[in-house]
Amino acid sequence: MSLIIEKNQIKGWLAGLKKNFIIIETKKMVLPAKQYFFPPKEDIFIFNKISGKLSVPEKREKLLLVCSHLGELEAMTQLDEIMKTPRPDWYYWQKRDQSVLVGIVDQSVEAASGGDLILEKINKEQYRALILTAQGKKLIKKDFFKEIEKPKIKKYLPESKPLKELLLDPELLSEAVAWSWQTKHKIWDELGKKCLGCGICTYVCPICHCFSIEDRVDLDGEKCVRCRQWDACTLPRFAQVAGGHNFHKSIKERYYNWFYHKFVRAYKEYGRTQCVACGQCARYCPAGISIEKVLLEIVGDYKKK
Ligand code: SF4
Ligand code: SF4
Repeated sequence: MSLIIEKNQIKGWLAGLKKNFIIIETKKMVLPAKQYFFPPKEDIFIFNKISGKLSVPEKREKLLLVCSHLGELEAMTQLDEIMKTPRPDWYYWQKRDQSVLVGIVDQSVEAASGGDLILEKINKEQYRALILTAQGKKLIKKDFFKEIEKPKIKKYLPESKPLKELLLDPELLSEAVAWSWQTKHKIWDELGKKCLGCGICTYVCPICHCFSIEDRVDLDGEKCVRCRQWDACTLPRFAQVAGGHNFHKSIKERYYNWFYHKFVRAYKEYGRTQCVACGQCARYCPAGISIEKVLLEIVGDYKKK
């Protein structure tokens, strides 16, 4: 038995869910879904010197995020894991716990690696529901979904990308990236000249999660707000510490750090890469740098060595 919804019923089904959720479609967004749970800038506490009160801003909205790519859901699964380690990030989870993730994807789903409910395209008119969590089950409304014994199923194969293939072997990627830096591969000099150090690749990446902390004090000294904001390996002050010392002075070192975190350190910590091959970093890079081309060159040379 398959649980099926007609394509032309999806809009009505989502409209009905508006009673319980704020619905957000991520399809045309530049910033990824992480922005709703880990915003670009967020106050984490406010201290008032006069009253002596410390307050923590709370934000508990019930969001229903509609994603159109499996990669977005997979990235959220990874981010959830990161935000639980070494202990749960309260600011992230106060928002994330309330929310549900729905995928409406125009491809066949071989293995779902994230989300609460996925609607998988099975033919021109119909989508099949894949329920992944109890929260996802609650979204199924009888008026819109029907059980069908043998629906007409067509295969919609996802676009194959070399980067996706590379991600299948995180161990090889981890070794190759580390090797390229240790052996002073020429690609890092080239990228050090090409990269503008703007941080855009990190902001648009659905998994990047580094942040910095800043205190803002009112001019009259009464109120202090501590806030956290997105940071990026490639930004000039990313590795600068108190006293002014900067551990990664050059763009070359900072750009490599982005790769190191995603492919070497992430493999050591989680046994996988922190990349889902969404291609957003290359799409928005003003210098035209493609993570796929960089990795293909490094892995190609590593295999030849
Ligand atoms: S392709 Fe780029 S933006 Fe997408 S997950 Fe990988 S590193 Fe992040
Ligand atoms: S978006 Fe491109 S230019 Fe900007 S930091 Fe990333 S790689 Fe460098």
